[in-house]
Amino acid sequence: MSLTWLESVSLEELRKHPLHPLNQPLKMWRYIPAKSWIPDICLRNYGKWRKRRYIDPGIVEVTSETGEKLYLVKVILPVRSSTATLYELCNLADQYGIGWIQASKMGNAIILCNDETKARELAKVLRDRGYLVGGWGPRLRNIKICSCFLTCTTAVIDAVPIEKSLGDALIDYTQKELPALLTIKVSACPNACGGGFDAADIGIVGYPASVPYMEGWRIKVLCPPRLLLDACPVGDITMIKDPKTGRPIGAEIRGMTCMACARITQIPNISKNS
Ligand code: SF4
Ligand code: SF4
Repeated sequence: MSLTWLESVSLEELRKHPLHPLNQPLKMWRYIPAKSWIPDICLRNYGKWRKRRYIDPGIVEVTSETGEKLYLVKVILPVRSSTATLYELCNLADQYGIGWIQASKMGNAIILCNDETKARELAKVLRDRGYLVGGWGPRLRNIKICSCFLTCTTAVIDAVPIEKSLGDALIDYTQKELPALLTIKVSACPNACGGGFDAADIGIVGYPASVPYMEGWRIKVLCPPRLLLDACPVGDITMIKDPKTGRPIGAEIRGMTCMACARITQIPNISKNS
C-alpha cells in the first residue's frame, strides 16, 4: 500500500481491503465495538459532561449539559483483590448502581450510580463492610505499585510491604483535604511498571546497589542470542560476532543507556567470562 493510495482511500474502503488486519483469517482478531464498553448514560452524554461536585471524600457528582447526573463512588483497593471481593463489588454495583464498575489507573474501583441517595447508601454499606471509600478531590488517591516479586522476576525490592506500610501511615489522607491531590507510586525496579518516574507526587523505585557489569567483561552466551538482546528493555546489549564466520560468540553491555535493572541475570544459561 503506497502512502498516496492510503491518503486517497476512504476509511470504509480501507476496512474492506484484504490486507486490513481485521480481514486476515489466520489471526484471531476479535473485533469488539468500543460502544459495547461504554454505559448508555455515558454514550448519551459523550462530550457533554460540564460540572463536577465533591459531595463526600468518596463520592463525586458529575452533571451533563443535558441535566443527567452520575455519582461515582470510589473504592480504594490494594494491588491484589480476591475474586470474592470483586464479586461483592459487582453485586453492590448491580444493587445500588447502574451495573458498571470502572477500574481507575490508580487501581481503584469506581462504582457508577445515577441517584445520590443510592450512592450515599452504597458508600455507607461499603464503609460498614470495611472498604476504604475516599480519595476524590484534593486527597490521597491510592498507592499504586507494580506486580513485583510474586509475578515478576526482575524485582529488586518488594513493593507490597512498602505499599502496606505507607497505606497504614497515610490512610487518613484519603479522607482529609490536602492542598492538592496526592499520588504515590512504587515500582520494584527501574522498569517502573507501577510508575514512579512519571507523573507521581512521590515515586519510590527499587534500584540495584551497583551496575551489573565490570569494565572489560564480556558475557559468554549459552542461551539463544535473541533471548539476551530482547531481555534488555533499553537495548543496551550488543552481540559480538566472530569476524570470520559472522556467528555470534558473545555479548557486550555498552553501558550507554543501561539503567541497572539486572533483568539479564534472570535468563538461565548465561555466565560472565573475562
Ligand atoms: S517495575 Fe520491575 S519488578 Fe515491577 S513489574 Fe515492572 S519489571 Fe517487574
Ligand atoms: S542491567 Fe542494563 S544491560 Fe542489563 S538488561 Fe538492564 S538495562 Fe539492559
